Amino acid sequence: MSITDSQDRVAEIQIYLVDLSQDQPYLGALREGEVVNEAGYFVRKGNRTVYPRKNRSLVVQIVTRDGVIGWGETYGLVAPLATAAIISDLLTGFVVGRDPNEVEAIHDALYDLMRVRGYTGGFYLDALAAIDIALWDIVAKIQNLPLHQILGSPQRTLIPAYVSGLPKPTLAERLELAKEWQSLGFDAFKFALPVADDGALAELRALRLTVGDDARIAADLHWSLTEDTAVQLAADLQPFDPWFLEAPVPTEEIHTLRRVVERTQSRIAVGEEWRTHYDARLRIEPQACHIVQPEMGHTGITQFLRIAKLAEAHHLSIIPHATIGSGIFLAASLHASAGLTGIESHEFQHSIFGPFRHFTGDALSCEAGAYSLPTGPGLGVEPSDAMLARMTRMLP
Ligand SMILES: [Mg+2]
Repeated sequence: MSITDSQDRVAEIQIYLVDLSQDQPYLGALREGEVVNEAGYFVRKGNRTVYPRKNRSLVVQIVTRDGVIGWGETYGLVAPLATAAIISDLLTGFVVGRDPNEVEAIHDALYDLMRVRGYTGGFYLDALAAIDIALWDIVAKIQNLPLHQILGSPQRTLIPAYVSGLPKPTLAERLELAKEWQSLGFDAFKFALPVADDGALAELRALRLTVGDDARIAADLHWSLTEDTAVQLAADLQPFDPWFLEAPVPTEEIHTLRRVVERTQSRIAVGEEWRTHYDARLRIEPQACHIVQPEMGHTGITQFLRIAKLAEAHHLSIIPHATIGSGIFLAASLHASAGLTGIESHEFQHSIFGPFRHFTGDALSCEAGAYSLPTGPGLGVEPSDAMLARMTRMLP
C-alpha cells in the first residue's frame, strides 16, 4: 500500500508506566548524604538533580481503526502522571481520527496548541515525543518496512556506540569495568563528574592510563561549572586528550556556553535536554557547541531529525543521547540515526540496555562497539511478555 492510499485513522491511545527498577540506582550506589525520600526520590549531590530510586518510563500504544499498533515511549522518571495526563486529558482528543501518515503535521498542530502559553518544552514536549514515535511506528508498519527505510536512504547498518558511565563505587572498579568493555570491542567511553569521586582530572588520567592513547574518553560535566571553572578544567584535562566535554555550564546560560567554546580547545557537546529544533538553534547559530546530543525520549522522531539536520547544515557532529528506557525510544533513535551523515557515535547506556534487552524480545543488539539496526517493520521492537508484566495502565 502506498502512503497516499491509506485511509486508516487513529482509533485509540493507551498509556502505560513501565517498571524499570534495578538493584542499583542509575549512576551507581548512593554517595554519603544521598537519601531516598518517602516519595522514592533522591538528589545526587554532584549535580543537585533528582532521580527516582526505581527507574521507569512511559509507554504509549496507539491503535488504528485497521488494527495497526504503534509503540512510543518518553520519560517517566519524574512525575510520570503529569505527562500521562497531558496525553490523556488533552492530546488524545486531537490525535484520534487523524491519518497517522500526517505524523509531522500532527506534531506541529499539537505543538501549536500550547505555544502561546509558553509550553514549548518540558513535560508537554515529552508527551508529544511519545505520540510522535508511535505514529512513525505505524507509518512504517503500514508500508511493511523498517522505519529507517522510510526516513531516507540509510547511510550505515551499524551505529558506532560508546560505553556511557562506569557505575562502580571505587575508581579501581571503574577502571576494571572499562577494561572489560574494551576487551569486548568498545574503544569509546564517557564518565560522569557527579560520580567521579576524586574529580574529573583524576578520573580521566586513570582511565587514559588504563585504556590507552587510542581510546576515546569523554567527560560529562552535568551542567555543574562556571565559565572560568570550565575553562580551567578543560585546560587541566587537555594533556589527557578528552574526546569531548559534555554540558559544562547550566543549560540556560547560552552566552556562558559560547564563551566556554571560545576559550577552550576541547570539543563541547550539549543537547540531551533539548526538546525541539528551536532549542538547538539557540545554541547552534551562535556557535556555542561542537557536538549535538539529541535525546529521542524528549524529541520524538520529528524533532530529532530537525535538530540533526540543523546540526548537519552547520557541519556539527551528532552523538545521540540514550537515557533510561525500555528499548522503544532507543530503537527509534537508531532508526533516525541511520540516515544521518553527521553521526559520530551513539550513547550506549549499558547498565540499562543489558538488563532490559529482553523487554523488547532481544531485538536490539550492541556488540563490538556498534549497535545493529532493528530489522522488523516499523520500529522493529514490541513489548515482550516480560515487559508487559511490568506495564501498568495509566489514566482512562
Ligand atoms: Mg549527560
